[in-house]
Amino acid sequence: MKRSRVLAVLVGGVFCVAVMTLYRMLELMQGAELPHHRETPAGQVEEDLSRLQQKIDRLEHLLSDNNRLVATLRDSLVRRKASWQTGGGGSNGSSDSTHSQVDTLPGCRLAEEMKDGTDGVQLLDVYDLLAFDNPDGGAWKQGFEILYHGNEWDEQPLELFLVPHSHNDPGWLKTFDSYYQDQTRHILNNMLIKLTEDHRRKMIWAEISYFSKWWNDIDEQKREMVKRLVGAGQLELVTGGWVMADEANSHYFALLDQLIEGHQWIQKHLGVKPSSGWAVDPFGHSPSMTYLLKGAGLRNMVIQRVHYAVKKHFARQQTLEFLWQQSWDSSAHSDITCHMMPFYSYDVPHTCGPNPAVCCQFDFHRLPGGRVFCPWRTPPQPITEQNVQERALLLLDQYRQKSRLFRSPVLLVPLGDDFRYVESSEWDAQFSNYQKLFDYFDQHPELHIKARFGTLSDYFEALHRRLSTAGTTLPTLRGDFFTYADRDDHYWSGYFTSRPFYKRLDRTLEATLRATEILFSLTLAEMRRFHGNGRLVAGFPAREHFQRLTAGRRSLALFQHHDAVTGTARDPVVVDYGTRLFRSILNLRQVLQSSAHWLLLLDKSLYHHDQSKPFLQMDDVITAQDSLPQKTSLALSSEPRSLIVFNPTEQLQTSIISVIVDSPDVRVVDAETGRPMAAQISAVWAEPSRASTEAFQLSFLAQLPPLSLVVYHVTKASAGSTHRARYTFHRRGNLPTVHTEHFQVSRPQGPEADSPMSLSNKHFQIWSSPDTGLLQKLRLQSGLVHQVQVQFLWYGTRIGANRERSGAYLFLPGEEGAQPYSTSEPPLVRISRGPIFSDITSCFRHFTHTVRLYHLDGHAGRSLEISNMVDIRSEVNRELVMRLVSDVANGNRFYTDLNGFQMQQRRTLEKLPLQANFYPMSSAAFLQDSASRVSLLSAQSQAAASLRPGELEVVLDRRLQQDDNRGLGQGVTDNKLTASLYHLLLEDRRGGAQEVGGASVEHLSLLAHLTSLSLSQPPITMVAPSDSQLPKLRPFRPLHSSLPCDIHLLNLRTLEDAQEAGSPSQEVALILHRKGFDCSSAPEPLPLCTWSAHEEVNLDDLFSPLQFRSVRRSGLTLLHDDDEPASARQQQPPRITHLRPMEISAYRVELD
Ligand SMILES: [Zn+2]
Repeated sequence: MKRSRVLAVLVGGVFCVAVMTLYRMLELMQGAELPHHRETPAGQVEEDLSRLQQKIDRLEHLLSDNNRLVATLRDSLVRRKASWQTGGGGSNGSSDSTHSQVDTLPGCRLAEEMKDGTDGVQLLDVYDLLAFDNPDGGAWKQGFEILYHGNEWDEQPLELFLVPHSHNDPGWLKTFDSYYQDQTRHILNNMLIKLTEDHRRKMIWAEISYFSKWWNDIDEQKREMVKRLVGAGQLELVTGGWVMADEANSHYFALLDQLIEGHQWIQKHLGVKPSSGWAVDPFGHSPSMTYLLKGAGLRNMVIQRVHYAVKKHFARQQTLEFLWQQSWDSSAHSDITCHMMPFYSYDVPHTCGPNPAVCCQFDFHRLPGGRVFCPWRTPPQPITEQNVQERALLLLDQYRQKSRLFRSPVLLVPLGDDFRYVESSEWDAQFSNYQKLFDYFDQHPELHIKARFGTLSDYFEALHRRLSTAGTTLPTLRGDFFTYADRDDHYWSGYFTSRPFYKRLDRTLEATLRATEILFSLTLAEMRRFHGNGRLVAGFPAREHFQRLTAGRRSLALFQHHDAVTGTARDPVVVDYGTRLFRSILNLRQVLQSSAHWLLLLDKSLYHHDQSKPFLQMDDVITAQDSLPQKTSLALSSEPRSLIVFNPTEQLQTSIISVIVDSPDVRVVDAETGRPMAAQISAVWAEPSRASTEAFQLSFLAQLPPLSLVVYHVTKASAGSTHRARYTFHRRGNLPTVHTEHFQVSRPQGPEADSPMSLSNKHFQIWSSPDTGLLQKLRLQSGLVHQVQVQFLWYGTRIGANRERSGAYLFLPGEEGAQPYSTSEPPLVRISRGPIFSDITSCFRHFTHTVRLYHLDGHAGRSLEISNMVDIRSEVNRELVMRLVSDVANGNRFYTDLNGFQMQQRRTLEKLPLQANFYPMSSAAFLQDSASRVSLLSAQSQAAASLRPGELEVVLDRRLQQDDNRGLGQGVTDNKLTASLYHLLLEDRRGGAQEVGGASVEHLSLLAHLTSLSLSQPPITMVAPSDSQLPKLRPFRPLHSSLPCDIHLLNLRTLEDAQEAGSPSQEVALILHRKGFDCSSAPEPLPLCTWSAHEEVNLDDLFSPLQFRSVRRSGLTLLHDDDEPASARQQQPPRITHLRPMEISAYRVELD
């Protein structure tokens, strides 16, 4: 009742503001315009009229903004009323009322509109069409014979751009620094000399991590030379990311962040912005990347590693160049022009034309006497007057054949390879020999070819010119390019899981970085406001912290490289990456701790910064790059000990906070209100059946406002006053001796021991096997019982001589497929029951598996938490998978996410080998039929597959003794104790006539989005010292309310000061992502956040009471060139902006 009245008042208020604005405008017009008229009755009537017209236009604009606002408010009012009628927060809503809710679920209409509805090529259909039979294509082994008459270019000559490039991996066989010392710096030094020698020479460069390092090493004179080369179009920075990112395992936060880091660097030092993308080595390609590139202002891109059968099909159809569209976007808004390289590789033998034996002869780095040679046995020859004609015609034949695969007579021919152009002689060999060939072409117009060195932009400009002259447009394409195969049945699905320990560490850093960015930006804004003069607090190390943030951004960025997060680098390089991630987490924690310290102090004058003795500490420690975080034990007494919890999400979170304490009797209160928190004490298991007598796990229920820091007081309580978990132990055969001093333990015997174990909360009930403790079935509140079995299985690899086997990149399982996990010793099963959570833990030899349900009323209690602790170090050539077997009739269709940004339909195809049916899953997967959907949300990347209807499996770890012949030269045997974390969500759906398994575009449900958010951005717990003389702390709550459920604050990232290098500026990048969500399931219970059917959002309302001094919409990498023009800017509140479902929007803001 109270809340609806507030809303009504709000609606009224907005209406009043609108009327008053109108009145003021009219007044202004009368006051300012009429006297003016009297003074100039004749000459300026027209001008005045147009001015008046402008004012009316503005007025109209204002009115419509106000109308929209009112509509938005009315919407949320209606919805709140509805939710009130169906039982307040909705937790008791019957299924009937929630079904009627679905019909009017606002926002659905918007999300539904994005589905399907465009023509063009859908890659899923191409997969259905292709035979994948891999016939021998002759010279072009994976292709076909290309024919031409020779007169095709008579009217329009072949226009060729030879694009010199050097692929520099930021770590692979050597570390980033070693490559830089040994190769990269020489390449760039020589680039400067060799390009300056002849203005016709060109070069492209992609990796800004290397480029910026080199920039720091060169003097001002050389920097000027670089700028001249860039200005003259001889040197082009392509993509402009920190690295050439992996597109399978990377999360879109990190993909965008590394792009921002690179683009900001380029703009600052070179004053340009990249326009073309270059991704020749990532092992498969994702449309999420193209979305980010387009949003960052790029217009074109090149990709290379695509399944050979798809390449061949596209080559036949002449669709190797296309407009790559987002599946969910039927407008041209997100299109980007994409060029797919037709052949096997980006090296010279596979780029000049279809025949590598011929093309290799035009890699002049392989001239006889050098270190590299042509494996096709015909070496290159230096171009001389004697052989130039014969050589030129031989090469022209390749160019012409390649040209026949494209619709325009413009041809892109890359010239380079990994770490090329190190020595000055290589530059001379390539540039002088090719110049001779080009000169020969120039002297023979009858050949109808114009060839020159070029950059990507040179090529794409010519392409667009030719296309528009011819009046042709490129075909559109939707979908992604996973799973990549480069030859035979060699599918690159192994790297979706390789080195899972680091794939998880990657996300830990990502979450830490995002939380730190946001808290740091809020702290600076608060400090500026606190003083009132815009200055920061003396003693707060803003500059040092900003540098820690920058280093953290760059560590995360570096790890997105396609040999880093992929798990495909050599062991010492993996350690180097791990060390960078680990150090960055520690450094970012310092920033978090000292920002929180200042924000929490009631008396700010008590702030002091001492790096060696921080006021706040994390509640856990990470001791090394290869170890998991360990919770520290808090010593309790009757004096309250302060716990500080930061909620890094934009939503009010009901979270369970767990810390380790030294007493089983604990009391937790909200420090501000003194209200006691519901709490539970659980055992800390030193061994599966031995509980620690010194350490106890305290778990309490915390209500955390969005982006808030909340203070709790923990004290030692009287004996027996805290709820303790009760334990039940099971094991077939001999039950172990259980050691617990402080907990009640039972051991069921007789028939009780044979019946399924069961746990339940308000939302569902689960049953697990009495033998293994593994989940068997689940009943929802609606009464529907679903089979959802958890199984564990092993994959082995192929056996026999000369058989290629699984390695870091490839998954090549044995013919027998997955074998059930079995051990001679039955697992120990431990059930815990408590008021906060209950769980079942199964202790197997190679893993410990826990399913936990939380006794929470709200949506946070709707999902089942699954965690695994895996250790397969004793195994040889084995991969462990966790499989869910459900009764969902999804046919052969399932969905995995692409980079956490969007869901992609997958079709399991029998014509493909087993390993081809595995896909990357970075945060989510689901199966559905018309009645239900099973979603698995994950906190880390891994491979996923649905090999039979109803099944969904994820690969947990892989240990492989051999190299898989992709250049790495080793297996993956550096396995560690590895954690993985999931939430399983089962939702009833309202079906209707739908395609079996789902449409080509589907989204996560609202509940799945919220669950995924709390999984990927968990609360961060800090502890204050145990000292009774502590200064008083008060909570920090920057927002009045949660953001709408579907709007995600992706980042609030302080930008670097333009004048003072290495210092924070007042400008912050505000990055919002409005998610698309599924409408077939009602979010039950209703989440506390709201959502709206409107695209218009008022930023001032969204972040109230935070104030924006300025807001400028910009491109996704915040380049000044991409800022909206001043004329379009809204200088005064309300700041209405458009957020379309699925879209990411970036703003350059100043917080007041
Ligand atoms: Zn590479």
